Amino acid sequence: MDILFVALFGLIIGSFLNVFICRLHTGKSLNGRSHCLSCGTVLVWYELLPALSYLVLGGRCRHCSSRISGRYFLVEVGTALLFVFSFLTAESVLDTALLFILSSVLVVIAVYDMMHTIIPDEMVLVLVAVAVLLVIPTGVPLAHLGAGVGAALFFWIFWYVSSGTWMGLGDAKLAFPLAGILGGWGAVSMVILSFWVGAIISLFLLALQKGKTHMPFLSPHLTMKSEIPFAPFLIIGFVCVYFFHVDIFTITDSVTQAVLGY
Ligand SMILES: [Zn+2]
Repeated sequence: MDILFVALFGLIIGSFLNVFICRLHTGKSLNGRSHCLSCGTVLVWYELLPALSYLVLGGRCRHCSSRISGRYFLVEVGTALLFVFSFLTAESVLDTALLFILSSVLVVIAVYDMMHTIIPDEMVLVLVAVAVLLVIPTGVPLAHLGAGVGAALFFWIFWYVSSGTWMGLGDAKLAFPLAGILGGWGAVSMVILSFWVGAIISLFLLALQKGKTHMPFLSPHLTMKSEIPFAPFLIIGFVCVYFFHVDIFTITDSVTQAVLGY
């Protein structure tokens, strides 16, 4: 019952995040009425129910039947899932609140990076504040700070060596609070996982591109040289390590064992 309530809360916050992401850095206020981007019809309450409306309306506007981006649906469901993970992981009310904020900011950064290949600085600052509050009670805040600095430095070197073509400076900034929250080996797991996930998804997208399948998020002309938003991969890595305790060393150990027999 609690989990259902948390999931519903996540869906509602997710639909707010959709509006927030669309209006971030566009100078539009947050309280304008939601309307169809194609025909401009102002939407009524039952067309704005998080996730549900999208499913019921089949992802199309009720008035002009133009397609609504699946991004809205994914943001709502993604936020709901992260809120449930947060709720299951948190050990206090303060923890829960911090992880809800963390989840919301991660959703905004991932989607904003996919849309604009930019990670908004102010969102990273919110993450740093959350990281500080999460790390202080661990008793070894300096070790976590070290992990954050190390990961940021790692991505900064990528950015510097490639003059910003492999990695954005934003990725280095984002790695700082995320690695800081995880600490030492967790941070290493996150970074390695993010490269694995990035490689797998990029190859998958390139393969789809060959087959000319419609890609909902990315530009239609993805090539090997395309600037690929890295924040979503880092965030997937973070979520796997933080919420599911995925440990890269256990994985590589079992793979080695399975393949080589020792
Ligand atoms: Zn419409």
